[in-house]
Amino acid sequence: MTWLATVLTLFPEMFPGPLGASLAGKALEAGIWRLETVDIRDFARDKHRSVDDAPFGGGPGMVMRPDVLDAAIEGAGGVGPLIYLTPRGRVLDQALVKELAAGPGVRLICGRFEGVDERVLEARAPLEVSLGDFVLSGGEPAAIALIDACVRLLPGVLGEPDTLAEESFEAGLLEYPHYTRPAVWQGRSVPEVLLSGHHERIRAWRRERAEEATRKRRPDLWERYLARQRAANG
Ligand code: SAH
Repeated sequence: MTWLATVLTLFPEMFPGPLGASLAGKALEAGIWRLETVDIRDFARDKHRSVDDAPFGGGPGMVMRPDVLDAAIEGAGGVGPLIYLTPRGRVLDQALVKELAAGPGVRLICGRFEGVDERVLEARAPLEVSLGDFVLSGGEPAAIALIDACVRLLPGVLGEPDTLAEESFEAGLLEYPHYTRPAVWQGRSVPEVLLSGHHERIRAWRRERAEEATRKRRPDLWERYLARQRAANG
């Protein structure tokens, strides 16, 4: 079954966008995944086709109407969990990406303006997912990032499945540093061990570098990694 991303948006012209190029684009063309966009505005009822209105209680900006968005969700179809991209959501991580990529697809709601009326969130109870602690002007770039992260995990998308096992977060660590030709560049040599052809030593060196990078750059990940190690060692 083809993995299906259904995107509810006020800007369908933003898709496939970056998802039409390179790895994801080739996989899209090859039919490994499918993309459907649903224009939320098509579900507006009044003659101005309005999708937003002023917030009750006052304040700046506009809010997406619950009735219009609800009708769009109903009409969109699609498969897999319903997800609202929002800065207040659970921050997207590789564990969630894996889970979503293993399912039949995703249904993504992209907000605009100040966001959407709370009642449609209560009624539809989407999983709320954030890209990080910053504010985008709309959910579309977040949807593109989420889809990209999922698509590259689909079988047949990456040439070498090995690359997945080695990557950042796979073992709960950041990735080790990479080097390619030339072996000396601007007086900087590639670490000697990588030229040794000694696979065990290379593996150990990469592991050390990954641990070092995680400890220095992401103490939060490092703590969790240590806790998992401790649990695994009884
Ligand atoms: N007023 C809101 C921000 C609205 S930004 C607040 O202060 O939280 C408009 C839309 O962009 C949101 O509805 C959401 O769909 C999307 N968005 C903004 N930042 C995001 C983030 N970090 N992750 C995912 N979606 C985001």
